Amino acid sequence: MKIPEQTACGLMQKIVSGELSAARVAEEMTAYARELNPKTNAFVRFHDPSPSGDGAVSLPVALKDNICVRGCPATCGSRILSGFVSPYDAGVVERLKDSGARVIGSLNMDEFAFGSSTETSAYGPVRNPWDLGRVPGGSSGGSAAAVSAGQVVWSLGSDTGGSIRQPASFCGVVGLKPTYGRVSRYGLVAFGSSLDQIGPFTRDVADCALLLRIISGFDDRDSTSVDRPVPDFPRLLGRGVKGLRIGIPKEYFIDGIEPDVLGAVREAVEVFKKAGADVREISLPHTSYAVATYYIVATAEASSNLARFDGVEYGLRAVPDKARKAAIVDMYETTRQKGFGDEAKRRIMLGTYVLSSGYYDAYYLRAQKVRTLIKRDFEKAFEDCDLILSPTAPTTAFRIGEKTSDPIAMYLSDIFTIPANLAGIPAMSLPCGFDKAGLPVGLQLMARAFDEETLLNAAFVYEQKTGWHKERPSLKGA
Ligand code: GLN
Repeated sequence: MKIPEQTACGLMQKIVSGELSAARVAEEMTAYARELNPKTNAFVRFHDPSPSGDGAVSLPVALKDNICVRGCPATCGSRILSGFVSPYDAGVVERLKDSGARVIGSLNMDEFAFGSSTETSAYGPVRNPWDLGRVPGGSSGGSAAAVSAGQVVWSLGSDTGGSIRQPASFCGVVGLKPTYGRVSRYGLVAFGSSLDQIGPFTRDVADCALLLRIISGFDDRDSTSVDRPVPDFPRLLGRGVKGLRIGIPKEYFIDGIEPDVLGAVREAVEVFKKAGADVREISLPHTSYAVATYYIVATAEASSNLARFDGVEYGLRAVPDKARKAAIVDMYETTRQKGFGDEAKRRIMLGTYVLSSGYYDAYYLRAQKVRTLIKRDFEKAFEDCDLILSPTAPTTAFRIGEKTSDPIAMYLSDIFTIPANLAGIPAMSLPCGFDKAGLPVGLQLMARAFDEETLLNAAFVYEQKTGWHKERPSLKGA
């Protein structure tokens, strides 16, 4: 079995036909994941695999380190959660286990999902399998790199402002952020509660459709979960794109996009035209406010969500070095000072500032209003089209260290992915070519709320006509 070339659907067929046994697949894949990990640093830990259920999908899966698995640590790539062991399974984990999947480990991430490069992790950076000197994107960099390198056939990540799609784009894999409310966040450590969604990373679109079907559905333990039937996504693939109206937002084709990215995306547009889609220019006029709006809403929510990490209930507890008897406030302060990394501290300070009395109206309230305008842009655009197409990110993978001292440059990597989170709509990234240095380029598709079906179907057509997803990374480089 050539592990890096497998897909989940392909493996399941071989298991059903008796060519391979589920136990052997799990064993070989786990051994391969461990062997490769010193190169990628995608896994932060391996678990004793959850006993294989008897469900249909008995394949190994790995999860971002912010998704809780009963009896296993979940640390969100942070020192502050060291020692924390989850007492329960996340909603998505229950669904995976019910389908028979074996959870084999936790995947590296930017601390608390703050970042676009996986360099803010307390476990050190993840390396991009296409060039080990480059970042895999973030914050779900471990989830993307593990699938790209072949350590697992599929994984889960979370996306608050692009953290599934941007790393999928940098690592040449498929990544999908579902509609807000489609997938339960019960057991996902919260970052920006009005934005967060869990979603799949896979090597191709059929696997993405299957994994999305497994994890989707109502959960009354997540108050934002929406009670709607889950379509049988894998069965709905293959309807073609004839007559499908695809909108190209003019605000997404701006200066600063790398020419090779632009070239690959323009070629993708031609592929859709040839397949019979009706491609038209559209406008999303408030796009230029999205990054600023996001960094107010997301940091405000993060600062309030992270208030619970104070040394009392979860993970690390630290007291001042010299104190014999520390007051409880000293314990809170020392724990947070030692436990959080620099980016987490920056987010907490920004968020606390925008929520503070006197500034709340000027920042948070205003940002909420602009968010509504951005949402309306999409509603209006979807009157004239069924799908919106853009690059996933303005560049391909950058070098490790290249943007760590410039937070604004780092924040701008999410310029095309953030609007879908603000609007709550589903969006995905899929491989659409390579730049001159051989690094993958990602194509983003966005659809109406709860219309993942159209997304997956169009992505499937594109994938069949191009085949970029079949290229495998070299696992070389500095
Ligand atoms: N890169 C963005 C940020 O730093 C998005 C992160 C995410 O989606 N979790 O906030």
